Formats: sequence, structure tokens, C-alpha cells
Amino acid sequence: MTGSYKDDLLEAARLIARADRVCALTGAGISVESGIPDFRGAGGLWQRYDPAEYAALDSFLVDPGKVWRMLKEMDDLVVGASPNPGHKAMAELEGLGKLEAIITQNVDNLHQEAGSGDVIEFHGNGSTLTCLDCGRSYARAEIDLTALPPRCRCGGALKPNIIFFGETIPEEALNRSIALAGSCQVMVVVGTSATVVPASMMPLLTKRSGGAVIEINLEPTELTGRAADLSLVGRASMVLPELVDAVRASL
Ligand code: NAD
Ligand code: ZN
Repeated sequence: MTGSYKDDLLEAARLIARADRVCALTGAGISVESGIPDFRGAGGLWQRYDPAEYAALDSFLVDPGKVWRMLKEMDDLVVGASPNPGHKAMAELEGLGKLEAIITQNVDNLHQEAGSGDVIEFHGNGSTLTCLDCGRSYARAEIDLTALPPRCRCGGALKPNIIFFGETIPEEALNRSIALAGSCQVMVVVGTSATVVPASMMPLLTKRSGGAVIEINLEPTELTGRAADLSLVGRASMVLPELVDAVRASL
């Protein structure tokens, strides 16, 4: 089913070049080389904070100050991070007319900073916060993180607008993603273990409607040898620029 890396790269480029509608699904892996660790790699952060515990709504409701210690460390990493060549290559692909939109599970804003124009934030974004008691919303820039948790003027704890385990996906992001995944001819899946539902179902929708799935990851995932037609193994920051060059050459 798959050949050498070079053969698969050229085949992936041909599929993208020929397609009218291409979309992407990205996960934490694309931002690892920008200094933000994924859930599984040897990244420090997630060895000290188990995501199943710290990224869960229940934990936040019980002890927001505890969860905010993790959020503040994540916030420091995100504030200090810049897009890497992988994010930039995806923005270039859009510029070539070969990437309609990116469905991202990331909350780090790096696709937007790299210049991608249509980014569907499947798991929200940390740039705004909402009071759990009165619903008032704040920009991240207005908030002082010296005392945790940060509080609303009503006294309620503020929660960043990122989706925790136990919360539903924002309706518009979910509906747009389902429509896109079910109608694109090619989906490029980058740096996701494809284990967090329902994001992990998007490539399956593409596959079911007759589209092709191209995966880029450091290692085999749930999609490899199943929903993925092609699996390009390597770092996103290396593979994506090579893929975009090959697409340009096939146009
Ligand atoms: P995950 O941690 O479950 O999987 C990351 C995947 O990326 C793994 O399959 C890994 O092999 C791969 N990977 C690691 N480095 C890579 C590289 N340099 N190039 C290519 N692939 C690489 O992440 P997930 O599937 O996105 O699910 C975790 C959830 O937590 C998601 O909601 C995610 O957005 C969130 N999260 C977000 C961030 C962020 O915003 N940057 C960081 C950590 C976790
Ligand atoms: Zn309030």
C-alpha cells in the first residue's frame, strides 16, 4: 500500500495537486518543534500534569486554582512560541489554492500567526476567558495571572475558552468540520495521535465519502494502515515544506 518515503511524498503531492478541495486536521505534534510539548512526548509539562486529570472540566470545577497552575505553564510556553516551518508550509499551501481550511485541535494560535486564513478551532482558543459564574468574557491580555485562579469582578473563577475533557465541541466548529471533512477530496492529517474523539473521526468522514487521507507523523497512529492512504513518517517541520515544494512542482 505504501512505498518509500520519496514515492509516497510524490504521490501525496499529486493527490493534492489534482484535488479541487483539500483540508487538514492538525494536532499537538505540529507545534512540538515550536517548543510546546504534545501529550505523549518527553515534554516535561505533561509528565508533571496528567492531562486526564488536569485538562478535565470536573477537575477545574472542583479546584480551579490547581488546574490554573498547569494552564499558566502552558500559557508561558504558548506566549513564547512562534510558528515553525510546518505551520508556514501549511499557510503556503493555502496560498497556492491547495488548502481550503485547517481543522486544528491546538489552542496555541500558531496557524493563525503563520498566516493561515481559515482555521477552525475545534478545541477553542486560550486568548479569551469566561467567568463560570456570570458568563462575562475577558481578553487574555486584561488578565493578571499572579494570583491563581484569576477572578471575574463578580468573584467567579475565570476559565480560558479552551475545550476541556467533559465539554462539548463549539457547535459551529463541529458543524463546519463535519461538512468539510465529508466533502473534501483530500485530508492532510498532521501531528495527531487521532485518539481524542470526536476530532479523530474527521479523517474517517473523509474516507467514507471517497476522499483520500494523507498522514504526517513521527510514528504510526490509529490511522496508519487503516483510514490513511499514505503515511509520511517524519517531523512536520521537515515533511510539510517538502510536500508543499512537491505540490508546487506538480501544479
Ligand atoms: P497527542 O499528544 O495525542 O499526539 C501528538 C502526535 O503528534 C503524536 O502522534 C506524535 O507522534 C506526533 N508528533 C510529535 N512530534 C511531532 C513532530 N515533530 N512532527 C510530526 N508529528 C509529531 O496530540 P493530539 O492528537 O493533538 O491530542 C491531544 C489534545 O491536547 C488535543 O486536543 C491537542 O490540541 C491538545 N494539546 C494542544 C497543544 C497545543 O495547542 N499546542 C499541546 C498539547 C496538547
Ligand atoms: Zn463573573
